[in-house]
Amino acid sequence: EELRELLLSRITDVPDYPKPGVMFKDITPLLADARAFTALTDAFVALCERYGATKVVGLEARGFILAAPVAVRAGVGFVPVRKAGKLPGATLAQSYELEYGSAEIEMHADALTAGDRVLVIDDVLATGGTAEASLKLIRRAGAEVAGVAVLMELGFLPGRDRLAPVLGDAPLEAL
Ligand code: IMP
Repeated sequence: EELRELLLSRITDVPDYPKPGVMFKDITPLLADARAFTALTDAFVALCERYGATKVVGLEARGFILAAPVAVRAGVGFVPVRKAGKLPGATLAQSYELEYGSAEIEMHADALTAGDRVLVIDDVLATGGTAEASLKLIRRAGAEVAGVAVLMELGFLPGRDRLAPVLGDAPLEAL
């Protein structure tokens, strides 16, 4: 509860960004606060340990910032999932539906191995499309999903419901 209050106090609502009608959750004040960023990292590390993760996947772009210190602290590797066209090596690609149109994310094809248990980390779970596609990539790479961990979940969107069938028994944790 104390952690939750600390984290919430460092997240700002920005109205009409990136477009009119959207209330954007800005986490830059949290990142700039050493105590809050450390507390968040420690909470993600605890989830890594609880779910036996051997790798963390960070989702571009804020997921990179959050997942990298978790990997170092937990002593596991970091794997980036990027928007299409950004990774230099051979990739696996996964497209997913947006409200209008679709998007595609990629992961290096050799980034994970069959024994890996992967925790996906991102800042915001909104519609769940990005997280859902990342879980498909992880499974297609032959690895196991240890869980999804996000700083926050937008409870007025059906992200958790969308993710449920893809998660199976794996947990979704929103800090
Ligand atoms: P989803 O695929 O709809 O769940 O959107 C999640 C992705 O969009 C995440 O990678 C988030 O970083 C980003 N996102 C969506 N809404 C917000 C927001 O209000 N603040 C920051 N990032 C957001």
